[in-house]
Amino acid sequence: MFEVIIGLEVHTQLNTKSKIFCSCATSFGEAPNVNVCPTCLALPGALPVLNENALRKAVSFGKAINATINKTSIFNRKNYFYPDLPKAYQISQFDVPIVEGGELFINVGGEDKRIGITRAHLEEDAGKNIHESSHSKVDLNRAGTPLLEIVSEPDLRSSDEAVAYLKKLHSIIRFLDISDANMQEGSFRCDANVSIRPKGESRLYTRVEIKNLNSFRFIQKAIDYEVQRQSTAWEEGTYESEVVQETRLFNTTNLTTRSMRNKEDSAEYRYFPEPDLLPVVLDEKMLEIQIPELPDEKKARYIKDFGVKQGDAEVLISSLEMSRFFESLVERGLNPKLCVSWLNTELSGLLKGDLSIENSPVSALKLGDLIARIEDGTISGKAAKEVLAFVFENVDFSIDSAIEKLNLKQVSDDGAIEKIAEEVLKANADKVAEYKAGKDKLFGFFVGQIMKEGKGAFNPAKVNEILKAKLG
Ligand SMILES: [Zn+2]
Repeated sequence: MFEVIIGLEVHTQLNTKSKIFCSCATSFGEAPNVNVCPTCLALPGALPVLNENALRKAVSFGKAINATINKTSIFNRKNYFYPDLPKAYQISQFDVPIVEGGELFINVGGEDKRIGITRAHLEEDAGKNIHESSHSKVDLNRAGTPLLEIVSEPDLRSSDEAVAYLKKLHSIIRFLDISDANMQEGSFRCDANVSIRPKGESRLYTRVEIKNLNSFRFIQKAIDYEVQRQSTAWEEGTYESEVVQETRLFNTTNLTTRSMRNKEDSAEYRYFPEPDLLPVVLDEKMLEIQIPELPDEKKARYIKDFGVKQGDAEVLISSLEMSRFFESLVERGLNPKLCVSWLNTELSGLLKGDLSIENSPVSALKLGDLIARIEDGTISGKAAKEVLAFVFENVDFSIDSAIEKLNLKQVSDDGAIEKIAEEVLKANADKVAEYKAGKDKLFGFFVGQIMKEGKGAFNPAKVNEILKAKLG
C-alpha cells in the first residue's frame, strides 16, 4: 500500500596522498594530531590551496557516471560549529558543484534500472571526536581529508535497490581507483533519506535522514526499520507527530533508529563563496582525462568474449578484486566456464566471515593451477573440491603437492583400466550379450561398475574410450 522513496548521500574519501587544502598526509591509523598544520588546524592567517589530484579524481568520477562536468565550479563556506571542525565552517561546494546530472544502472531481480545522480561535489572532512567516560578528545588528523559527496536522485524504491546502488557505486569508485572505499575505516559512508507515500500519489512526504551508515547490511536494516516505523505511524494515525524532518542515528545493536537532531535547512548554514579560494576553472587537459574500463564495460566484455552468463558476470564485476581474479585466470587460457564456476561457486563458497576475495588464502595463481589439473585430466572435478578445501586450510601446499598428499590423481593408465574392464565384462557376460543384442543403456552400467572397482580414481573419459573399444 505504500511506496518507499529513498535518496542516498555518499561521502567517499578520495585516496590522495595529501589533504585537500594543505600538504598534510591523509594516512589512516596514525597517532592523534600528527598529520596537522596551520591550515587544517585553522590557525589565523593560514590559507587553503586546492589539491589538483582531488580535482582530477572528481573529474574521473563525473566521466564514469556520464555527468556534466562544470568547467567552472565554486567552493563555499558551510558554517556550523562542532568541536572537530576548528574553523567553525567547512569548505564545500554548494550551488555550483564540480559534477552534475549523472547516472548509473543497477540490476535487481534481473531488471536493469537507471538511478539518477543529482551531483557530486568536493569538500573537506572534519576531524574526529573521541568520547571517553569523563571527557572528550579531538583528533584532527582527518580534518581536511578530501571527500567527494555523491547525491542520488530519490529514485530508489526499496532497501534492495539502495544496496544495489551502493554496491555499484562502490565498485565504480574502486575501478576508478579514486578511493579505497574502505567501509570499516569510514572512507565510504552513507546517509539515507527515507520517506513513504500511499501508492499512486506523486507528492513527497516528510523525509527522515539516517546518518553515517557504514556497512551494506546496516544500510539495509536501517532502511527497513525506518520504512516499518513510518508505515506503522501512518496506519495508527500518528504519522504527523512521529514522522518529522529530522536526522536519526541507527543503533547497530538493536537495529533501530533514534532521533539525533532536527535536520537543518541549507539556509541555516549561511553558505557563501569561499573568499580564500578562486573559482575552479578546468583546463582542456583536465577535461580530457582517460578513465579505466568500468564495471558495466567489463560485464559486457565478459559476456561477449568469454560466454559468461549475465548473473555470473554481475558477480565478477561486483568488486575490483573479483574482476582481477577472473581476468588473471582467463589470461592463462583456462576454460572460462570452469574459471567462473570455480571462482564464483567453489572458492566464494569457502570465503566466510572475515575472509573475502581480497584476502583469500587461495590466490588466483593457485586456483588457476587447480583448474589446469582438471583440464588436463590429472584430477576429477570431485577430487578438485577436496584439493581446494585442503589448500584453503593449508596455504603452504601447492596444488600438485596437495594432489600428491591426498592421493587423488586419476588413473589414466590404459593397462590398469583395461584389466578392470575385462574383469567386469567377464563377470557380467549375460549383460554383455544383452548389450550386443541392442540394449544400449547397459553401457552406463559397465562404466559404473568399472569406476566402482577403480574406487573413483579412474579418469571417466579414458574408461569410456577403453570400454567402447572392448565392446566393439
Ligand atoms: Zn594540514
